[in-house]
Amino acid sequence: MNSHRIRACFLSLLILALLSVGGPASGQGLAPGASGEVQEGFVKQTPGAVKARKPQVCYPGLNSEQVPAELFAVCVPDGFQYHQRGTEHVWSDGKGLDLVVAIQVKMTSADDALALIVPFLEKSGARIERLPDSRLRYFGETSRGMAFGRHQHRFGALVYSVCTKEHPDCAMAEETARSFSNSLEFLEPVVVPYEEWKTEKGEHVTVRVHPEGAAAKDKEWLSREYDKGEKAIRSALGLGVDQNPIQCFFYPDKGLLKTYTKRDSGFAIAEKGEIHSWFGSRSDRQSTGHEMTHVITFRAWGEPTEALIGEGIAVALDQSGRDLHKEAAAMLANQGGEFSLASMLGEGWFKAPPEVAYAISGSFVKFLLGRAGPEMLAELYKAKDFGVALQSVYGLSLEEAQKEWLATIGR
Ligand SMILES: [Zn+2]
Repeated sequence: MNSHRIRACFLSLLILALLSVGGPASGQGLAPGASGEVQEGFVKQTPGAVKARKPQVCYPGLNSEQVPAELFAVCVPDGFQYHQRGTEHVWSDGKGLDLVVAIQVKMTSADDALALIVPFLEKSGARIERLPDSRLRYFGETSRGMAFGRHQHRFGALVYSVCTKEHPDCAMAEETARSFSNSLEFLEPVVVPYEEWKTEKGEHVTVRVHPEGAAAKDKEWLSREYDKGEKAIRSALGLGVDQNPIQCFFYPDKGLLKTYTKRDSGFAIAEKGEIHSWFGSRSDRQSTGHEMTHVITFRAWGEPTEALIGEGIAVALDQSGRDLHKEAAAMLANQGGEFSLASMLGEGWFKAPPEVAYAISGSFVKFLLGRAGPEMLAELYKAKDFGVALQSVYGLSLEEAQKEWLATIGR
């Protein structure tokens, strides 16, 4: 999955929030959550209704409110009204103070979560005062507030306040924001911390398995299999050894993967060199190569400009051994109509049905790799303008590339 795009989507909401302070819910209506899922509506529940460690206890004058879709609870002052704004959960006092919680995936620390707000505060010209413990205070032209990073396992929360100039007491609002943030509790059932997971060190990968389930019994096999995959991917891309082993986390099932990460399926945190996968058995698991390829290409070449290439490489090198050209041809036959490669560029890639987008990307990259090798593919991966690079690197226009690729896959 393309983390870059998800982050961009979230941050656009954030800036909306900062610009629309005091106004009602201007950024609402974007259905997909930060975790890529459609969020359920907010339901105010009595404490304990969600599978919680223990019911949350709040001081007098505060009420525990839970957001079941995201499994967190927070103590909210009397009189604050809840609304959802895109992926953000907002409580407003009606006088110009908003308290906001945004759940974030792929977070390895509280500072990761806090860092998400910084570029937007900087862009808005706000003065930022950094504080210890993953906190900051900001002073903007029309508003001021605090921001807090929170984190658990591999997800987190950005909590922040926006207090407008019109508000009678923004100094007091800071106290409210602080206690609001401190009260936030993640509510998933007790789990085994990563420190207690079993570890198996391979040559270029470190396998980390939840102590219960099939992966724990197969950790030596996993470390051999992923080591072999890592070498095969590097060799296909013409890359040398990376001294920094890829950290490979394996969950017994999709349920536990979600508990730890709030994601429905496996993913990579490329900049941290981590991959997270579910593992039912050797024959029922995620592909060995897809997520590792994301880490390897990120380390070598940075973020891809086009998902067509970024995801395409991950599919092409997923080590599953499937016939990608055959799959893509079948997908196109199924779709019917005229196919246009141009429609798979930029945002277009995300509008296509995922199974079609992945299949076409994998086959197209396999075609490019076969035609001119990894160095040229790297140029295309890094290129600012796909069409220009395709012409200068491969000597092909978009139409010519499409025609040649379709001929290769027998369409
Ligand atoms: Zn991917």
